[in-house]
Amino acid sequence: MASKNPKSPNPKSETSTLKVDYQHKDKAWYSIDLALQHETLVVKYVHFDEDFDDHFNPKDFKNLEELEEFKERFRSNALQMQDHQCKKVLEGMSVCASHVYIDDEIKFYDAVIDSRTYNSHKRSKGKEECRCSFTVLWQEGLHAGTKTVTTVEHICLPQPGDALQNQALAAFFKICREKLELRVPPGFEMNSGANISVSENGTRRDRTRSLTVENESTPPKSQETKSSMRLTSRQQTVKERNGKRNYQDVDLGGSPVATEHLRETPKCLFIMIENLDKDISPSHIVDFVYKHTSIICQVRIFPSLTTEIYARGILGVDSEGKLQKLFEFLDNPAHLILSSRGRPWVISEKKFWTGTVAATLGSWMTDLENLSRIKSVELVNKVRVVNRGTEEFKKGEKLKALFMEFANHQQGLQKRLALEEKKIIDSSI
Ligand SMILES: [Zn+2]
Repeated sequence: MASKNPKSPNPKSETSTLKVDYQHKDKAWYSIDLALQHETLVVKYVHFDEDFDDHFNPKDFKNLEELEEFKERFRSNALQMQDHQCKKVLEGMSVCASHVYIDDEIKFYDAVIDSRTYNSHKRSKGKEECRCSFTVLWQEGLHAGTKTVTTVEHICLPQPGDALQNQALAAFFKICREKLELRVPPGFEMNSGANISVSENGTRRDRTRSLTVENESTPPKSQETKSSMRLTSRQQTVKERNGKRNYQDVDLGGSPVATEHLRETPKCLFIMIENLDKDISPSHIVDFVYKHTSIICQVRIFPSLTTEIYARGILGVDSEGKLQKLFEFLDNPAHLILSSRGRPWVISEKKFWTGTVAATLGSWMTDLENLSRIKSVELVNKVRVVNRGTEEFKKGEKLKALFMEFANHQQGLQKRLALEEKKIIDSSI
């Protein structure tokens, strides 16, 4: 059973573009093909008639917030879990799982692994068969908040990748943004999103319910049999971590604003970096960034828990042009930025934040003023750029992937905590 899908999952798909899945308004995830016809994005559901196609036009989106909500409904395709991968499935991990409804209709919804019961794997002719059972806690769908016991073939694992690596989708978003006349740097926005949904006290608004698109059809009904859906389940996408993070983590205490407000409020623009060495100092980052980009940025490192092995920090600049240049340097596929210990800097949330320096960051400026005094200490903490193709880059890439996997897992745990918290808060006891 190692190869559950010997056939190409989708013969029509282009190999040069990222395969993505789409979350319909029924909250289920569907394998799709995308086509851009002039300025219309056509979502074609794999194994469904074209009558079910959805069409989206730039005029369907009134502002960037609606566009961002729409973007979150796409993510790179998930792969059906293979039998030998079952040990990778840990409690709290986010997955995409299938649920069989009446008439053998199968739908895929986000779920969190609640527990796993190991049973010894069967091996015959060199192939491995997982006999474990997994309890999943549904995050979406009719059974949201309840648990189901399921098996390996019903679980799809998350895959890395930004949905905008899909060419049709990226082109459509570019058109939409141009039409919305946004002032956010184009290079940045193609790989990111403005943080437009954090209220002043840092709580997140519901980004998933408010999008209404006139042309959207009713939820498609599966025309597939159970067995054929099993084949196509490899294409299902599992949570793309960069897409949905809880902004409460990064509340800076300032006033994050809608993008359209940027032109009226000349504030600092911030990017968050994770996986920094805990003992790195802001001044070293200021120096390092200046050396490579000629940009003078402002840096704040947040305190870490003693159990955490890395730190996170924010870099701030005062213009969109600098933000774009900074982002292109920090998130450049041609190189990695490694700490002295070889730990790669990671931007796991391709968002930016705005805020007022004085109100938001307190002693922020002090860090900059102290720069010259602590420079001598910085030498021990040498950050460097390593180019693609080198051994160091390969190692850094592995570490980055490991960090992203960890971040994904952590997000699953956060979700679970939120659900469990809600249960207690909502209970009548
Ligand atoms: Zn197993």
